[in-house]
Amino acid sequence: MRRVAVVGGGVAGLAVAGAASASGSPLEVVVHEAQPERAGYGTSLALWPSARRALAGLGALEAVTRAGLPVGPAALHTIDGRALTREHTADLLAVPRPALLSALSAALPASVRVVEDEVTDPADLDADLVIGADGVRSRVRALVDPRAGERLETPWVALRGHLDRPPSPGAAGEYWGPGLLFGLVPSADGAYWFTTHASALGPEPLDADEVIAEARAAFAGAAPVVHEALGERGGASATRLWVTPPLRRYVRGRFVVVGDAAHGMTPNLGRGACDALLDAVSLGATLRAGRSLARWEARRLPPTQVARVASGLLMRFALADRGHRARDRLLGLSRAGAGRPAGTR
Ligand SMILES: Cc1cc2nc3c(=O)[nH]c(=O)nc-3n(C[C@H](O)[C@H](O)[C@H](O)COP(=O)(O)OP(=O)(O)OC[C@H]3O[C@@H](n4cnc5c(N)ncnc54)[C@H](O)[C@@H]3O)c2cc1C
Repeated sequence: MRRVAVVGGGVAGLAVAGAASASGSPLEVVVHEAQPERAGYGTSLALWPSARRALAGLGALEAVTRAGLPVGPAALHTIDGRALTREHTADLLAVPRPALLSALSAALPASVRVVEDEVTDPADLDADLVIGADGVRSRVRALVDPRAGERLETPWVALRGHLDRPPSPGAAGEYWGPGLLFGLVPSADGAYWFTTHASALGPEPLDADEVIAEARAAFAGAAPVVHEALGERGGASATRLWVTPPLRRYVRGRFVVVGDAAHGMTPNLGRGACDALLDAVSLGATLRAGRSLARWEARRLPPTQVARVASGLLMRFALADRGHRARDRLLGLSRAGAGRPAGTR
């Protein structure tokens, strides 16, 4: 029997534990989670079809679908509310993070042990394989690539909150402006919203009230819907956005990294949790079948490192100052009167 220790019981950790222990598996899996009460905290995550297929393989899709809501039509707007694109419906399901975590947890085979434990040195774990599913601050990552051990701070902080009513017609989508980003997404119980702006506040944990006060000033000229969200707070939480440095490997010896530990990215593509699920399901199948980890790495590393880079570029593009020619052309900002304020159709 090969003993597998998973460090971290978030999306990646629970999913890889489930995938590695599917029926008939020769593996004995223990998940070490430092803060089980925080692991399921947060607002909604948007899940792409590939992530939903991964959840189906884990037996968690039905519960997730019940808790989620398809993301309806959404458009891109300028930060002051002019619609720049037509409404477009992407095949995304918005799922509250706690519901995703509890579905993954409920789908775990009985053989998986989940223990409350902060792993201080993953090298001390008595296991044949140690999977780092320990997020962007990963301790396992340094054992895979010592040069990539430290996470990288971005200039941006994100606020996430909830409204208890659906977005008004035409209001859902993203709002881009110089240094500012706002998003509004329908959810099963109303809507969730997020903002991003550059901030020097810190260190963490950030005080949500301070970040909201700063955001209100930063978003002063923004569309009314932004002020509505910031005004109601809706249990808002504030986080600095951190990313991982580039990684050229996900495997070294008995250590492997998955999810944000391997490719923590800015949230612009809505891919972080989705890629965590895809890593987890493919790694679990590789381990069950006793196949080579090098082949798994060759399959997962290129697309996830590309997503990490692309997400960061999209963030810079969305928040670029006016006068960024390519962006202004794309958004039609140079044409007076392009688009109409959200909610006026
Ligand atoms: C504002 C924002 C919006 C986002 N929106 C989306 C979205 O719409 N769609 C999407 O797909 N993704 C989205 N993401 C990204 C998504 O949240 C992450 O990619 C995902 O949570 C990564 O999961 P993970 O399990 O790899 O890491 P984490 O969620 O960070 O989980 C790591 C776990 O490991 C535990 N841990 C850490 N160190 C130790 C240790 N030493 N010992 C024991 N336990 C430890 C932690 O307590 C934690 O529970 C968003 C992110 C942000 C910030």
